[in-house]
Amino acid sequence: MLFNRVQLQPLQSYVCFQMVSAVEREIVSLRDRVKRNYSYVCGLMVMLVKICESRKGLEVFSLRNGLLIILSELLLFAPQIVQLQTIETMSTLLKHFKPNTFDCSQFMHNILATIAKAIVLQIKDKITRKISSQKMETHASDVPQYWRIDRQINAETAHLLVKFVEDITTSKFTENWANAVKTELANTIMQLAQFVTLNSSSSSNLIEPSVADAVSRTAQSLKTSQFWLSVASLALISDPKWLEFAPLWRTLKARRSQEPDPLCENHDDGQTLAHFRCEVCLTNLCRECFTILHLNKTKK
Ligand SMILES: [Zn+2]
Ligand SMILES: [Zn+2]
Repeated sequence: MLFNRVQLQPLQSYVCFQMVSAVEREIVSLRDRVKRNYSYVCGLMVMLVKICESRKGLEVFSLRNGLLIILSELLLFAPQIVQLQTIETMSTLLKHFKPNTFDCSQFMHNILATIAKAIVLQIKDKITRKISSQKMETHASDVPQYWRIDRQINAETAHLLVKFVEDITTSKFTENWANAVKTELANTIMQLAQFVTLNSSSSSNLIEPSVADAVSRTAQSLKTSQFWLSVASLALISDPKWLEFAPLWRTLKARRSQEPDPLCENHDDGQTLAHFRCEVCLTNLCRECFTILHLNKTKK
């Protein structure tokens, strides 16, 4: 034998360390278009998976916490076949990382941005009553460059990615991972809520905005990339209780519980509870009234 066991251990660690560095360097040069051939990075991912399966050098991974983030970035611009391999690689590697030891937000942000590219929304214009299909690439105007909106993702890849996130949230990895991802999803949704409320309070502190104002504000939020991230998160949340993971949700809930429950302003009978708030009419309505007519006290 060329090496004994004691000598072999540090050598294996060294090789693993170099491999992780190579993956990182390779993804950066593919991202910056210095390189266009993906075969080397695919070969490296195969080796990463083999290392994981043989359980050697795993402690090295925990020292290189950026690995999962850079792999998730690869999803944003790689061709489909590479995206599929990346999802598989992340599924194998995930359990060897602890979510609290690296920037889990960035990791989820990349995954949500990739899923958002595949989302098609039917948007109904309440005034013209026209329904149109919208995608992030045609609708959002502030998409960060590194999301590479020019690189598409097909439905099959998006479904696999959704399945990957579901595996995490249903605790197929660890409970810590499930909670970390639920927190990220909840925070992403609450960021949109914050955007809409901040917008409305800045434009109308005391004076109610006109209908046109309110409509344009809603249309504005559709044009943000944050909106599309929130829609992707909504698609991944399977229990409203997960929102409890977001600090902003807990704050709003605590504030709300001090106030009396809102009543339907259309019923106006002092007992029918409201389930929705129409931001256009600035009216609280019950389920039934929301689908039919929006009248508040002042308009009656
Ligand atoms: Zn309304
Ligand atoms: Zn009602």
